[in-house]
Amino acid sequence: MSAPKSAPISAANSAPTPMMAQYHALKAEAGDSMLFYRMGDFFELFFDDARAAAATLDIALTARGEHGGAPIPMCGVPVHAAEGYLARLIKAGHRVAIAEQTESPEQARKSRGSKALVNRAIIRFVTAGTLTEEALLDSRSANWCVAIGEAAGGVAIAAADISTGRFEVIEADAAALGAELARLNPAEVITAEGSPFAEHATDGTRPRVDFDSGAAVDRLHRLYGVSTLDGFGTFSRAALAAAGGLVAYLEHAAKGALPFLRPPRLAAARDGMAIDAATRESLELTQASGGGRKGSLLDAVDRTLTGAGARLLAADLGAPLMDIAAIEARLDLVALFAADGGLREGLRATLRSLPDIGRALGRIAAGRGSPRDLGQLRDGLEGAATLSERLNLLLPSLPGRGRGWVGAANDTHEESADLTPSPEGEALEPHTAPSLLAELTPQLRGHTPLIDLLRRALVPMPPIDASDGGYIAEGYDAALDDLRDAGAGGRRAIAALEAKYRTETGIAALKIRHNGVLGYHIEVAARFADPLMRPDSGFTHRQTLAGVVRFNAPELHDIAIKVSQAGAHALAAEAAHLEDLTAAALDRREPIAATADALARLDVAAGLAERAIEGGWVRPSLAPHACFEVEGGRHPVVEAALAKSGERFVANDCTLSESSRLWLVTGPNMGGKSTFLRQNALIAVLAQAGAFVPATRARLGLVDRLFSRVGASDNLARGRSTFMVEMVETAAILAQATPQSFVILDEVGRGTSTYDGLAIAWAVVEAIHEDNRCRCLFATHYHELTRLAERCDALSLHHVRAREWKGDLVLLHEVSEGPADRSYGLAVARLAGMPPTTVARAKSVLAKLEAGREKTGGIAAGLDDLPLFAAMAEIEEEQCDAIRAEVEQIDVDSLSPREALEILYRLKALSREA
Ligand code: ADP
Ligand code: MG
Repeated sequence: MSAPKSAPISAANSAPTPMMAQYHALKAEAGDSMLFYRMGDFFELFFDDARAAAATLDIALTARGEHGGAPIPMCGVPVHAAEGYLARLIKAGHRVAIAEQTESPEQARKSRGSKALVNRAIIRFVTAGTLTEEALLDSRSANWCVAIGEAAGGVAIAAADISTGRFEVIEADAAALGAELARLNPAEVITAEGSPFAEHATDGTRPRVDFDSGAAVDRLHRLYGVSTLDGFGTFSRAALAAAGGLVAYLEHAAKGALPFLRPPRLAAARDGMAIDAATRESLELTQASGGGRKGSLLDAVDRTLTGAGARLLAADLGAPLMDIAAIEARLDLVALFAADGGLREGLRATLRSLPDIGRALGRIAAGRGSPRDLGQLRDGLEGAATLSERLNLLLPSLPGRGRGWVGAANDTHEESADLTPSPEGEALEPHTAPSLLAELTPQLRGHTPLIDLLRRALVPMPPIDASDGGYIAEGYDAALDDLRDAGAGGRRAIAALEAKYRTETGIAALKIRHNGVLGYHIEVAARFADPLMRPDSGFTHRQTLAGVVRFNAPELHDIAIKVSQAGAHALAAEAAHLEDLTAAALDRREPIAATADALARLDVAAGLAERAIEGGWVRPSLAPHACFEVEGGRHPVVEAALAKSGERFVANDCTLSESSRLWLVTGPNMGGKSTFLRQNALIAVLAQAGAFVPATRARLGLVDRLFSRVGASDNLARGRSTFMVEMVETAAILAQATPQSFVILDEVGRGTSTYDGLAIAWAVVEAIHEDNRCRCLFATHYHELTRLAERCDALSLHHVRAREWKGDLVLLHEVSEGPADRSYGLAVARLAGMPPTTVARAKSVLAKLEAGREKTGGIAAGLDDLPLFAAMAEIEEEQCDAIRAEVEQIDVDSLSPREALEILYRLKALSREA
């Protein structure tokens, strides 16, 4: 681990050393962030920071110097490996302030004397929401930093992903705030001090002045170099507060450097399908309930090949559209790629090889760009230009069918490209020429001068680390080439010198070496050193170490100076070129970002087409009125899980219309009710996100709000939902669902006692039917609810089919009309391995209960006549009757002692049965 260096940071019993004073000043600025204090090749941490970091990183905690009489805890991480450690600290919820040396030790000595302390300053705050480094980010997820602003009674969210420059400003009312936050799933949330939304903040709050809408206008003017924001749309005061607060925070984190943000996309929360946090979670749209992507809809749908494509698909699925024209535009593009396998595969082969130019640009714009990032821009933009040419050739041939992939002369992916039109082409022909394609293709090109520049300037595989140079190509700069020649010539001369010294001294193992402290020097093993130590040897002693002795010599010195000067000049020349190339790239950052977006959109469309072909999915048709017709619908996640074990998914239809807009689905446990409900909600999400859907036919009326609720007991395993939560969430549906909405309610009312639960479920169905009038699928194990069909005319009864066969229960997973004939609970119990005697006993109890229900007219006669308890009482009564009969038969006077004993045993047995 880290070795102690230079002066102690504090001497015992004395005033704080200058270093200690510097450390404390920086730490005060860092606030609640850990301070990474640069010392040579290490970032060191002290005091509590050191304790926390050592625990999180599992590295050694050491001590150094003293403070108030106690040793100062310390730990450190090597600078070259800092990214990995940073990633772990950020993941563990820490924030880190990076204090760099802002001058070299030589500079410090030169300007302030030999004992001078190197100047240090915090150059950046590293927080979860302000990352750009490849190693710290998930390439397939966006990384949002969100600010909530409020003003004049309104609320707004500003969200920035500085790794790509995306910037959204969303007007939301307080109710929609949670839904928007759930959609963005931000890495970091900030609010103003004293904000009513401070509970959402992930790390404390920010000063109020940062959220002042007047200051925000100035800040945004500065950020975009404009004198009016009108070009972006109309900001409300809350929107300005949020955007200003966010930009101020990003500036603070970058120590005053303005972040790279693209023009803001202004939206209102109501622009898309509204999906609240609970619904997102329950439908597992982009995250499975166990956390993580696996098992989510996104995971089951995603066939994108680039990080940017994956990020865009996640955004699309998280925010389904309400605008039919925009949805159709996306679907047209998917249809084009679905219809033409050759085109799709050719496109995907190119995408597969493209670097993530959006994130490379983000790093460059944040001032953390490397030569490799420029190389990625060069390769990515070049690939985009090639794609643009090919797609362009295709455009005139549309509408009509695609012509297959047009292979260009320098096509490196020809092997994978199918030049013949695909057989599936006929059925999947796009409805119209994809307007989106015509819009996207021009965005892929226009970078030729930049590409040419980067191609000439950079080596084919530029390194991430610029400090050793070597990234500027030969032939780009004649002066640089000369310096390099001089360096190389010098190195050749040194090699020749080594040979010469070996002959002259007769020491075959003599070496000329180089290190950062001595520069070039001669090294021999200690036992050969004596002759060289003599004054007349021509060598000057420099250093004696264990085993080796090091020398200098005038000739070597001269050549070494030339080499190192040439090297330093070459490095400086390369650095200057890097700066120019970076500036040239930044000049075009908006068009480059647009190219990245266009590539992502193509990747998403081609990926969705790939998925559709793979699974036999269809293009949905969308209607403005509230219909819902799905034929042969399937659940993509469940289907994939079943396929793994060789089982088949049973497809089901779902037809909701004005006269039958509420389906009550009953049937045995494990029969497929929950799956059926969810698959239809997912199909609505997919369709409005512009994707094909897992069905044989789908015609869907736009859904303005989607709700999904699962009864509390179904959720208990996750230890979160309680009956209270279930009721709060259900209340939200009743308050918000419109006739345009789609609601799935799964076993609502299950989390409480039978009668409460039944009563609540009953009332909820009635309210949905009478007041909300939305499309709704309601799964329930309360058979009694089927009686509701008599009074609710738009309610229709359905059940998942099951059959008992040779005493076994066969679950058919088929949704059919009508109520389930019974609940099959006992058959399920037997299936689960319950002892036969227990099952038999349950059967007789059930018979009594059902008889009781018949007698009282069942639940529909009124909830208050408690037929269940009546039947229970009857069962108990029956047991007592048997005992009573037995007792009555006893002729007490004629009993022998032995007979009396036998009777007692019998009575005891009877009472045990009861
Ligand atoms: P319920 O809600 O009625 O208790 P689920 O929807 O949870 O039942 O389904 C239970 C299991 O049955 C699922 O995990 C799945 O394995 C299987 N299943 C559900 N629907 C289908 C279907 N349509 N085809 C095949 N298997 C299914
Ligand atoms: Mg269920």
